[in-house]
Amino acid sequence: RRAQFEAIRSLPAETTDRVPISVMVNAGLAEDALSLELTGADGIGLFRTEFQFLVSATMPGRESQLRLYKKVLDAAGDKPVVFRTLDIGGDKSLPYLSSGGEEAENPSMGWRALRLSLDRSTLMKAQARALIQAAAGRVLRVMFPMVSEPWEYEQARALFEAQVQWAEQGNRPLPRLIEYGAMLEVPALAEMLDQLLPRLDFISIGTNDLTQFLFAADRGDPRLAERYDWLSPAILRFLKRVITAARESEKPLRVCGEMSGRPLECMALIGLGAENFSITPAAVGPIKAMVRSLDAAAIRARMDHWLARPPNDIRRALTDWARRHRV
Ligand code: PEP
Ligand code: MG
Repeated sequence: RRAQFEAIRSLPAETTDRVPISVMVNAGLAEDALSLELTGADGIGLFRTEFQFLVSATMPGRESQLRLYKKVLDAAGDKPVVFRTLDIGGDKSLPYLSSGGEEAENPSMGWRALRLSLDRSTLMKAQARALIQAAAGRVLRVMFPMVSEPWEYEQARALFEAQVQWAEQGNRPLPRLIEYGAMLEVPALAEMLDQLLPRLDFISIGTNDLTQFLFAADRGDPRLAERYDWLSPAILRFLKRVITAARESEKPLRVCGEMSGRPLECMALIGLGAENFSITPAAVGPIKAMVRSLDAAAIRARMDHWLARPPNDIRRALTDWARRHRV
């Protein structure tokens, strides 16, 4: 199997009916950029900038953020990197950042990610400046985590745009282009896509958080790990709606949660119309192998049918379908 993955490293991830699938990796440290070379992935679809903060004893300043972002962009070369702004707070708390004196009972639904960044805008300004400087002369791709209402996206984007002006006024070299995106992790945002999609350049579905919020089931609780299935009709119907809305608005959509790194789940996502994924580096080989043996039109037709009339056990049905079709 390893030899098989090795052999397809330089081959495109394309289905048997020639639908190109983009396979990127999730990363968080400078060393992770090496996995691009090793796996033959198309880029970094999710760079978790909070990792640098989590492994540091003191708050990383603008200079050290800048160094990291530059290193990652240099290592990626021509391949795109999507930087996600800080997803800290909640359970990813930092000893050097005060939580405002409140201990949260439900940290994953608490004051975290973009909520914290917007309230502590000095932090976000420093990060925006570091990203803008690091991407001078290149394309900067930024996305915001845990956007719950469109105004949060607007405010975050405005904050970045103000830092672009700051860079301009200081005659600092600017990125060639900046693309802004939002993560869809909070179900409420899916109801606002008509307002949100026209305003952004891309959207990325974080299935880890999204599914925990859809099922109201803590993603870290081992007692619930087996209880609900990512391949449940509720999740799949929800995802189908989001994927269709993005497609209709012609905005690129990527799926970057753990779900898309599993071959059967990823096959189902392709069946829903998704074509861009960002996954853990170890999954690139298995996902590419699956894609290269899959007929996209056939799985789409099958998923349409199953979404309309869900079988008792979609996971089982998908497994059987994959076996019959030699995926
Ligand atoms: C997600 O929630 O699916 C996601 C990709 O972000 P994280 O796992 O970092 O919360
Ligand atoms: Mg998340």
